[in-house]
Amino acid sequence: MLHKIISRTLPYFPPKLIWQFSKSYIAGETSQDAINASKALNRENIMVTLDILGEFIKTMSQAAKNRYAYLTLIRTIEAAGINANYSLKPTMFGLLIDKKICFEYIRELTAEAASHGNFIRIDMENSPCVDDSIDIFRRLKREFPQNIGLVLQAYLKRTLNDLESMLDLRRDDAALNFRLVKGIYVEPADIAYKDYHEINDHFLKDLEFMLKNKIDAAIATHDTPLIQGALHLIDKYQVPKEHYEFQMLYGVTPKKRRELVKNGHRMRVYVPFGEQWFGYSTRRLKENPAMVKHIIKALFYK
Ligand code: FAD
Repeated sequence: MLHKIISRTLPYFPPKLIWQFSKSYIAGETSQDAINASKALNRENIMVTLDILGEFIKTMSQAAKNRYAYLTLIRTIEAAGINANYSLKPTMFGLLIDKKICFEYIRELTAEAASHGNFIRIDMENSPCVDDSIDIFRRLKREFPQNIGLVLQAYLKRTLNDLESMLDLRRDDAALNFRLVKGIYVEPADIAYKDYHEINDHFLKDLEFMLKNKIDAAIATHDTPLIQGALHLIDKYQVPKEHYEFQMLYGVTPKKRRELVKNGHRMRVYVPFGEQWFGYSTRRLKENPAMVKHIIKALFYK
């Protein structure tokens, strides 16, 4: 109950306090911070996917700024020789304001990544964005078969159907590539599973469908039963190392990721950075109410 109240009031917490919590989940505010974090991860034999924070923007001039920031990031990272690819959120480029321009911006960024032989992952946002994000992915997959991937959320009841409906995009020289996650947004019960076990069951069903159909899988979870379930499926379908990778969030369960790397699995860490860290941080806090306790402590026991 207390957690619920705190979650609702989070957006009104002083940013300084939220930053105290956020700094372990965010590489920093600048691209140099992201480069430093990425280099440290690369040294541990861990790849990264870079994400500039900022979403659900209100004006297309913000979308234009975000386009420029990503273009600059891609050029900087490629010049620095970092083992990274890129994740982006369509609402950051105006998905909910002007779909046509949003598509053009994401297309331009994919073309830039493709020119370096690299890859862009379209993150999945809340349910009103799913159809349009799939549509953007479909169009780009035809034009840049090797360079674009999408995220699918196991908590959505539609996900297995979405997987089936995209099989037509498979090509011999370019597998489909999806990151599978539980899903982080608060969704209505008629479209999303709510129960932990139900979500986990569907996560593994979706993953099995992917591996059976030779879809490249980015298995994005910190949940031990899911990691074990995924390892079992990888073994069952004898999936070659280059066709799957585990993914975890920056600052979360570093021990688990090291263990997987030690056992020879590919690992990629999602590294968010940028000035717009407030929305990302409060969502993480809502998702993991245990962390709210630390905020309460910080509030009352200074
Ligand atoms: P959980 O059951 O939530 O967590 C399992 C255990 O992991 C917890 O008990 C705890 O020990 C640890 N843990 C998990 N989260 C935290 C945390 N914040 N702080 C501390 N410990 C934690 N969601 C989307 O909706 N769209 C996306 O595009 C998207 N991209 C993602 C990309 C990556 C690489 C990852 C790892 C996650 C992404 N997510 C995305 C978030 C995802 O949907 C889940 O909300 C998140 O990963 C937590 O789920 P879990 O599978 O780790 O299981």
